[in-house]
Amino acid sequence: MIPYSRQSITEADINAVVEALKGDILTAGEIVDKFEAALANYVGTKHAVVLNSATSALHALYLAIGLKSGDEIVTTPITFAATANAALMAGADVRWADIKFNGNIDPQKISAAITPCTKAIVAVDLGGAPVDIAPLYEIAKKHGIALLNDASHALGSSYGDEAAAWAKQNSLYHAEKSEKNPKVGSLALASVFSFHPIKPITTLEGGAVLTNDDDIATKVRLLRSHGITKRTAWDSQMQSLGYNYRLSDVACALGLSQLGRLDEMIARRNEIANFYDDKFKNNHYFSTPMLKAGEISSRHLYPILLHPHMHCAKQELYDRLKEAGIITQVHYKPTYKFELYRAKYGEIELKNAEEFYKAELSIPCHQGMSDDEAKFVASTILKLCQKLDTSGCKVR
Ligand SMILES: *Cc1c(COP(=O)(O)O)cnc(C)c1O
Repeated sequence: MIPYSRQSITEADINAVVEALKGDILTAGEIVDKFEAALANYVGTKHAVVLNSATSALHALYLAIGLKSGDEIVTTPITFAATANAALMAGADVRWADIKFNGNIDPQKISAAITPCTKAIVAVDLGGAPVDIAPLYEIAKKHGIALLNDASHALGSSYGDEAAAWAKQNSLYHAEKSEKNPKVGSLALASVFSFHPIKPITTLEGGAVLTNDDDIATKVRLLRSHGITKRTAWDSQMQSLGYNYRLSDVACALGLSQLGRLDEMIARRNEIANFYDDKFKNNHYFSTPMLKAGEISSRHLYPILLHPHMHCAKQELYDRLKEAGIITQVHYKPTYKFELYRAKYGEIELKNAEEFYKAELSIPCHQGMSDDEAKFVASTILKLCQKLDTSGCKVR
C-alpha cells in the first residue's frame, strides 16, 4: 500500500520521546518552551504558542482576536472543516469566497463576501502552496480586519520572489535576518500549524499559533491553560474562561526532533513532486498546479486536477488505484456542502470550488516513498486515465 501521505518516525524521534518520558516534568515544562522557541526561530516570528491540536489553536486564536457572536470570518471552502468549525465554536458565522485554479482563496472574490460584521480573513495554503499574501494583506488592511492564516499544510513553505519583494518594501519581515524569502506563517497577523501525523511534522496530535503580536500570544497562552495566571505559590488569578489545550513535554520532544528533519523531508517530497511534474507535463487527462518563481511548497499534498472530460471517471480511477495499492484522497469537499452548514446557511455553490471538488485527487507524495514507488504511481495513473478515457467517459 502506498498512502497519499504518511508520518516519518526515526530512532532519534523515539529516543527523544523516551528521554522526555524519563523526565520529572511531563507537561508544561521546559521542552515546551524549547519547541516553541525552535518553531518561532524556524518560521521567523516573535512568538510560537503550541497547543494540543490545530483545531484548538484556531479556536484559541479566533477568541484571542475577539471573535464572538454576531461576527463573521471569510474563508475558503476548500479546506479541512476545522477552519470554519472553530469560528462556530467562538459563536461567530462563516462566509466563503471562491478559489483560484490552485485551490487557494481568490483575493478578487473576497470583497464581495465582506460585510460590516467581518472580523477576519482566514487563508489556507492548500497542500503547502503559499496563498497570494500581498493582495490578501492589502484587503485586510483596507477593511481594518485581521488576516489570519490556517497554514496547517505549510510548515516549511516559503513565499515567492514577488511576495518577498513586496514584504521587504513594506518592512514586513526582517530582511537583514535572512537572504531567503519569508516563510509561510511569518506575514499574516497570526498563523496556525497542525502537527497531526500526516502533516509536515508530527507531535501525534498538536498544533501552534505563530505571531509577532504580543497581545495575541498572551491571550492564546491564557486560553490554552484555563485562563489562569499564577501570582504567588498558591494565589492564582482567573479573569476569563480558558480551556485545557496544552501540548505535553513528551509531544514537544517529538516535535523538536521532527523539526530538525523538516527541511530534509521537504527536500525529498519536492524530488518526488518534481518527478511527477515532469512525468505529467502536457498529458491529456489532468493538470498539476505549478508554483510561482521562488516559492517553496512543503508538498504536504500533490494534487492532480482532472480535466472536465475525466471528472465522471474519478470514482473509478480512485477505486482502480486502490486495487493497485495506491491510496489517494480528495481535498476537500467544500465546507458549505456539509449538512451542518447547509442547515445553517442554505444552499451555497461557488463555481470554482465546485469544479475543484470534481477535479481534485491527491496522489502519494511523501518522504517515505522510493523512486520506484513514485514511478509506479505515475505510470499507473497515466495508464488508468488512458483506459478510462477511451472506455467512454462523457462530459456531463
Ligand atoms: C489538519 C487540518 C486542521 C486541523 O488540524 P488538527 O491538528 O487535526 O486539529 C485544520 N485546518 C487544516 C487546513 C488542516 O489541514
